[in-house]
Amino acid sequence: MAENRVVEGRMVTAVSLAELIEGEDVMDAESIVDADRDCPECGGDVLEVGYMPSITEFVTGMKCQDCEWATTDRE
Ligand SMILES: [Zn+2]
Repeated sequence: MAENRVVEGRMVTAVSLAELIEGEDVMDAESIVDADRDCPECGGDVLEVGYMPSITEFVTGMKCQDCEWATTDRE
């Protein structure tokens, strides 16, 4: 599938990438896109994915493809 990307050497889908960022199961995730920024830790490429950790919440998460760095747009 075209949606699969490599993060830290592993293939991820939108949902599994969202779960990496969230640290637990998520309900649903949108497509993975390339974020318009570099990783602040290692300068690597950053992926972005919008996902729903619960039915009432929508979060945009970012994850470095090369290291453990991840963040979300939560306040
Ligand atoms: Zn990084």
